Amino acid sequence: MDSLISVKEAQERILQYFQVPPAETVPLEHSLALVLAEDITAPFDLPSFNNSSMDGFALHSEDVQSASPEQPVILKIVQDIPAGTFPVTPIHRGEAARIMTGAPVPPGADCVVPVEHTDAYPFSQTALPGEVRIFAPAHPGQYVRRKGQDLQAGEPIIRSGTQITPQDIGLLASVGKTEVRVFPRPRVVLFSSGNEIVPPGQPLEPGKIYDSNLPMLTALLKAHGALAIPLGVLRDDPEEILQSLEQGIEHHPAFILTSAGVSVGTYDFVRRVVEENGTLNFWRVNMRPGKPLAFGLFKNIPFIGLPGNPVSSFVGFTVFVVPILKKLSGLPPTPPPPQTAILEEAIESDGRESYLRGNVTLTPTGYRAKLEGHQGSGNLTSLSKANALLILPSGVKSLPAGTEVNFWFIR
Ligand code: AMP
Ligand code: MG
Repeated sequence: MDSLISVKEAQERILQYFQVPPAETVPLEHSLALVLAEDITAPFDLPSFNNSSMDGFALHSEDVQSASPEQPVILKIVQDIPAGTFPVTPIHRGEAARIMTGAPVPPGADCVVPVEHTDAYPFSQTALPGEVRIFAPAHPGQYVRRKGQDLQAGEPIIRSGTQITPQDIGLLASVGKTEVRVFPRPRVVLFSSGNEIVPPGQPLEPGKIYDSNLPMLTALLKAHGALAIPLGVLRDDPEEILQSLEQGIEHHPAFILTSAGVSVGTYDFVRRVVEENGTLNFWRVNMRPGKPLAFGLFKNIPFIGLPGNPVSSFVGFTVFVVPILKKLSGLPPTPPPPQTAILEEAIESDGRESYLRGNVTLTPTGYRAKLEGHQGSGNLTSLSKANALLILPSGVKSLPAGTEVNFWFIR
């Protein structure tokens, strides 16, 4: 039970406890960043009618073959077609319709001549002139966006498993979708813990520190698409911890996340409360920072106890919680694939799988990495300044300057 397991084994053990939840239907405007649980096909052609891509005149291209500024072709204006109307009267030879961008091309006309190539430029009044001089020839199809040019009815437009972007929402709206089937946003209850921890906004008495983990973890959850339910600070008191965790499960979370209280300190009660009211799968991982990291079930609800040191909490979240959120969201539950950089300086660790704060810059020869600030796991300043975590595999105690290192960008 108290053996030290590898990062990979810990990730695998954790993921076994999570299943992709059933899909639900949500309004389109609530679907951003959720993962589609259905294939979407075009219900009709897009555009659904031939329309003009210019403000100008719809006409027969054959009528204007010889048109030039010196010898304009004069056509009779027989219709006005603002966007939003639907013309049914055909355009005959020798005629033109004034047409606006997005308006349907009338029957008969096979092209649009932009207003800039006519004597009607610029369109100044709404009154329809009797005739127009055309200064340039046109070819069939010119400035006509054909029905079905973008999408044909029945064509797949977005596949199940796609994480919905703002541009996807635009496309879905363009085919009239008001709701979509998605995997629900994971609900996560979280607490920080420790008698020294005070929420920002309250006076700081001697011996106390402000709670950085609850705000940071809440933000991390939101940034990864979860619904965060932060429930405050647990005191170092087993009774109070039990009661608070019990209240937490009333919110029906996919899992409970805590920070601190899972190490070997006399007052580290969080881990013990979980062990006495469920099962503890492991509580130590062979990594740096973040060795005291507990996972188990509290009354059948998965529980992840991140370390108290803020940087360890951040790294534990990135390494273990992100894959859970991906799995629950319907995405492949893999950690982000690392990129590689050349080290500008030697880096050292202690043989545990290490996630060191670094800065990676892009140079003409590729990414180059160096360490950022003090690596103590309580120091958030260097984490905030770092733009990457440099990853040393377990068993590697040093990497010399000039060698490759794996990294993840963190900002
Ligand atoms: P623990 O896991 O309870 O032994 O805490 C490890 C270290 O993390 C201690 O120095 C705590 O004061 C610190 N710590 C725990 N929780 C927080 C928190 N929410 N915000 C900032 N530091 C914390
Ligand atoms: Mg503590």
